[in-house]
Amino acid sequence: MKANKTLDLSQYEFRNIPGFDQNNFQGFDQAIPMKTIVIYCFDPRASEIPKTVADYLGNEVYPGENIVDEAGIRVGHTRTLFAMSNGGGRALQALQTIATMDYLFHYENVVVVHHSFCGMTSYTPELLIEKFHHHHHVDISGMWDHEDMAIVDYEKTIRHDVDLLRNSPLVPKHLNIYGFFYEINSGQLTEIVRDIATKK
Ligand SMILES: [Zn+2]
Repeated sequence: MKANKTLDLSQYEFRNIPGFDQNNFQGFDQAIPMKTIVIYCFDPRASEIPKTVADYLGNEVYPGENIVDEAGIRVGHTRTLFAMSNGGGRALQALQTIATMDYLFHYENVVVVHHSFCGMTSYTPELLIEKFHHHHHVDISGMWDHEDMAIVDYEKTIRHDVDLLRNSPLVPKHLNIYGFFYEINSGQLTEIVRDIATKK
């Protein structure tokens, strides 16, 4: 449906709800108890990763269900583990979400998962740069750290992504960061790094 003048979209914004005070906002934890963010690849063969991580960590609810009030309004959800996918399940692409969601939720863990036979293992950063330049006449060699462009060695890349999060000023220091490898055929999850926050 195309937006038109009769539909006032501003009515759907929290800031415009009568009684909502953005200056005294304490977060949405009462409505949705977000505890863990999982970053994984959008490869559909890896879609069971969030549920597998929830089972591995324990004390997590996934997928959970809506909490609805008498009027039928969705006032919350029981999910504690939030899934965020991108090409490769890379940490770099998740930084903005991690930083901004800290305003809304008091979550504790960030988990990075890379999976077997990921498309990102089919080339090297150098090849990607060369092909992109050839096809699109744009030099992307200076855009990102080359480690972020491909998966050349799973263990190194998982550690790279965990370190990237730990060392980024956008990632609050109280968060625990985990790095996993997931085998898509067996469904087995292997913990590679566990970086528990020293500051709470
Ligand atoms: Zn993948």
